[in-house]
Amino acid sequence: MSQKQTLSFQAEVAQLLHLVTHSLYSNKEIFLRELISNASDACDKLRFEALHQPGLYEDAPNLEVRVSFDPDARTLTIADNGIGLSQQEAIDNLGTIAKSGTREFMARLSGDQKADAQLIGQFGVGFYSGFIAADRITVESRRAGLKPEEGVRWVSAGAGDFEVEAITRAQRGTSVTLHLREDASEYLSTWKLKSIIAKYSDHIQLPILMRKEEWKEGEEGKPGEHVLSDEWETVNQATALWTRTKKDVTPEQYKEFYQSISHDYEDPLAWSHNRVEGSTEYTQLLYIPSHAPFDLWNREKAAGVKLYVKRVFIMDEAEALLPAYLRFVKGVIDSADLPLNVSRELLQESRDVKAIREGNTRRVLSMLEDLAKAEKDENASAEDKAKFAKFYAEFGAVLKEGLGEDFGNRERIAKLLRFASTQSDSVAVSLADYKARMKEGQEAIYYVTADTQAAAAHSPQLEIFRKKGIEVLYLTDRVDEWALNYLHEYEGTPLQSVAKGQVDLGKLQDEAEKKAAEEAAESFKPVLAKLKEALKDKAEDVRVTTRLVDSPACLVVTEGGMSLQLARLLKQAGQQAPQVKPVLEVNPEHPLVKKLDGSPAFHDLALILFDQALLAEGGMPEDPAGYVKRVNALLA
Ligand code: ADP
Repeated sequence: MSQKQTLSFQAEVAQLLHLVTHSLYSNKEIFLRELISNASDACDKLRFEALHQPGLYEDAPNLEVRVSFDPDARTLTIADNGIGLSQQEAIDNLGTIAKSGTREFMARLSGDQKADAQLIGQFGVGFYSGFIAADRITVESRRAGLKPEEGVRWVSAGAGDFEVEAITRAQRGTSVTLHLREDASEYLSTWKLKSIIAKYSDHIQLPILMRKEEWKEGEEGKPGEHVLSDEWETVNQATALWTRTKKDVTPEQYKEFYQSISHDYEDPLAWSHNRVEGSTEYTQLLYIPSHAPFDLWNREKAAGVKLYVKRVFIMDEAEALLPAYLRFVKGVIDSADLPLNVSRELLQESRDVKAIREGNTRRVLSMLEDLAKAEKDENASAEDKAKFAKFYAEFGAVLKEGLGEDFGNRERIAKLLRFASTQSDSVAVSLADYKARMKEGQEAIYYVTADTQAAAAHSPQLEIFRKKGIEVLYLTDRVDEWALNYLHEYEGTPLQSVAKGQVDLGKLQDEAEKKAAEEAAESFKPVLAKLKEALKDKAEDVRVTTRLVDSPACLVVTEGGMSLQLARLLKQAGQQAPQVKPVLEVNPEHPLVKKLDGSPAFHDLALILFDQALLAEGGMPEDPAGYVKRVNALLA
């Protein structure tokens, strides 16, 4: 590249830039955090590459970031001596967004500035946030290891395009110069910059340097003023926060550190900071966020834990450090034992990593247990009491994946589950609460699965339970069906779907009821035989039930069979689901069912009965038009 080239931004970048400049006004100053964080990443990368290629340090082994400004030119410059950018890297990295989930993220933007600003924050606007404060940005860089003539200058006004040209640059690394907007003059102040750095970047391991300011007395009666000297001073603590002892770190500092690693504006719900000793030694700093990221449901998505080895940054998103069902956790692990050149593949196999993952898992579960405990603790503050419910609303469904994923901790996870039920509109019933309320003679924990709480509450299968005052849990998360497959019992009490198998209320039914039911079944036999014949293509079986009170019929599946709800979910997800033929259960006491006997429209009535049971359960008749026709014929 010899001449200046003008290139266009990738469409997503142009869109993001527009958003950045229009919706991040309320939190303008974060651009400095983002640019310092990039500078620090660039130094981390250099340190990492130099493990194999010490020559990359050239003659400047001390990595640092310098922040300076020029009030006359109205510029602010963030310079690092990290890995730098080659010409091609400048074009690729500052002209496109390589991050996974970009399209998904763009699709989530609503146009509502406040909501979008939150999302943008989570996504991490990084470099482009510079345009909040600048109407033009100049980047000059040279990649470590390249010749001085192979430097690059990148300039853009943050609209549709940018310019790049080759330059000669003696020092390696990158300097980012912001040409400040009219309304961004506040950043031309040592005091202001220092206070932002203290707030967001104190924990950055590298020294951040600024020019010392000196007081110059005014001459001949003129007032004195602050002037910038040629001397540089370090303005941050420059120690990694997790290496300090707990008592030296304030809650504010923990929260700020969280915000800097998570791009989250809100405070975390909880954190835990520990030095773990024993066969594997590591420092662990883990956070539970207070709200879910936009891509929580992407199981392949980056886990939020960064890996360091002896303070050297190794990788972001080290998924081997936590199981997938805890992918919402953010934090840092600093290992004393892993080799510095550890790769993702090696991580998967390492015994140390396995021990760290187990340690992290136990730690997160105990943080959650503490939140759950605070919920019931009379002495806890209102804020602390509310935390577990908040956590559960955001991440409960992900946590449930753990039932199938982490057998060793299944009991602990089960204790953390919460449900709505026939006795609680809010998702607040634990399995322990349920057990404590079980009726005398009740032998199982009953639940019903449905798409929504309303559908669950109206489910015909639970009529008899309601009548008898037996609590039934509502399972309305998509993951419930799958997850509950792995939880057969809770502390010795089996879990039982009210839509599977025959209802056997066992000791909960009195003798008279049992007898009446048997008699009804006996006298209904001839009709039942005809029903079976009429529905033989649709229903596995037709039988009389005692589980219905107000409804004429309902569908259930055989014990151990796949539920209709799960079969539907699989089908919607485009997966192969086995053909499930349900059992139709009828209520011989219901007027509609009584009408069947001797009716000339028997066949149509039988089909209506079946299709209605299917509808009530959230399904769709095979032939909706035919169903409507048959019902209309009856109505007319
Ligand atoms: P992110 O840092 O999240 O990847 P950014 O938009 O902040 O996204 O930066 C895009 C890319 O530009 C970075 O991944 C990095 O490759 C490059 N980059 C940004 N700042 C620097 C810098 N100071 N030195 C070297 N490379 C940088």
